[in-house]
Amino acid sequence: MTTYSMYIDGQWCGAESGETYDAVNPAKGESFGKVACGGRTDAKKAVAAANRALVNWREVPLWERSAKCMEIADILDSKKEELADILCTELGKPRHGEAADEAGETSTPWRVAAEQAKYFEGNTKPCADAKKRVLTFWRPRGVVAAITPWNFPAAIPGEYLPFAIVMGNTVTWNPAPTAAATAVKMMECIHEAGLPPGVINLVTGPGAEVGDELVVNSGTHAIGMTGSPQTAEIISSRAGLKPTLFELGGNGPIVVLEDADPGEIAACIAFACYYAAGQVCSCAERILVADPLKQDLVDALIAESKKWKWGDPLDPEVNMGPQNNLGVVEKMTAHLDDATSKGAKIVAGGRRPDHPGYFYEPTVLVDFPVDSKLNHEETFGPIAPVASFGTEDQAWQYIDACDLGLVSSVFT
Ligand code: NAD
Repeated sequence: MTTYSMYIDGQWCGAESGETYDAVNPAKGESFGKVACGGRTDAKKAVAAANRALVNWREVPLWERSAKCMEIADILDSKKEELADILCTELGKPRHGEAADEAGETSTPWRVAAEQAKYFEGNTKPCADAKKRVLTFWRPRGVVAAITPWNFPAAIPGEYLPFAIVMGNTVTWNPAPTAAATAVKMMECIHEAGLPPGVINLVTGPGAEVGDELVVNSGTHAIGMTGSPQTAEIISSRAGLKPTLFELGGNGPIVVLEDADPGEIAACIAFACYYAAGQVCSCAERILVADPLKQDLVDALIAESKKWKWGDPLDPEVNMGPQNNLGVVEKMTAHLDDATSKGAKIVAGGRRPDHPGYFYEPTVLVDFPVDSKLNHEETFGPIAPVASFGTEDQAWQYIDACDLGLVSSVFT
């Protein structure tokens, strides 16, 4: 069994406590390795290392830092098969679809950061005193805490790590515990590029401990987190005056107006509901359809749902993997139970199959009411919930009942 270590100050290491936890393959519900279970002491060590590294890294010319990001991008590209393998094992992403797609795109933000940074412009402003000049510069903030979720564990760190380091910051990174092996694989690529010790540090372990320490520690100077609104609220309340950047969850509706063609749009809607087994922040979480189109759209969605085959993510025929963990499965069940207890009907799927791992059948549900949980919260499962409306006001009742948007769309 592989043991996945942390990376602090340029060294691979275990947790100070010696503790590990199981890395679980969600398609099998079985452990495939052990991950170092870091805690506050490890996070503090990483923050100290990042502060030591900052002293020199911020003085490295921006073009050299940019070249380093490009080098990391090249290494990520050269390792994309291995990255796809671990995305398949650790997240259950279909190896020939989602896993290959994400691995193939992992290098992109590293290249974008490397290029964009070269064109950042400061400016000059008029000044009351003719003898004075007001010049503005971009300067590194210091040590950035990056806290990332499990659903796109190779792509999302790219929204923080390269942009932070190319501008001369250093990083302490806490990935979601169920995506730590992917983070370690990425860290191996970063290590291979020969970044100075401490510029990027990886501390694996629970967010409530490691992530929280990165948030409250006076040695971090900015926080970036992608995850749920609930976690963001905790972090905001703990971050004090530090700048925070959040990318959070959604519950965006798809609205289908009377002049749309259900047969033409059903495949597109099914993709928006079932890709990544519904575990995407920008997934279609609710479908509101004009009354006259309801039955045609529901029939077309039922037909589409049968094209989504769940199962062994190594099987090239499979295009839907499992849910990431039991919590996600339970939330899907809770949302279905709540909606059906309020009158909604399941017309396709709606079950956790009798199979190892955390699979859920692609589901179509009709007639969910405004006050159902799935209208108010992100479900994050493979569900296409349909409700119909007679007037525009009725559609707005559904839409406005929830303050999570993120991605919404209209078919017309
Ligand atoms: P989560 O909120 O449970 O966890 C996100 C990260 O925060 C994890 O690394 C976790 O370990 C850490 N964390 C948890 N408690 C913490 C605490 N008290 N202090 C500091 N860190 C803490 O989210 P998740 O389940 O990992 O990811 C799914 C969520 O992410 C969904 O809501 C999804 O919509 C959202 N998401 C948003 C985007 C986007 O770009 N908007 C992209 C992907 C995922």
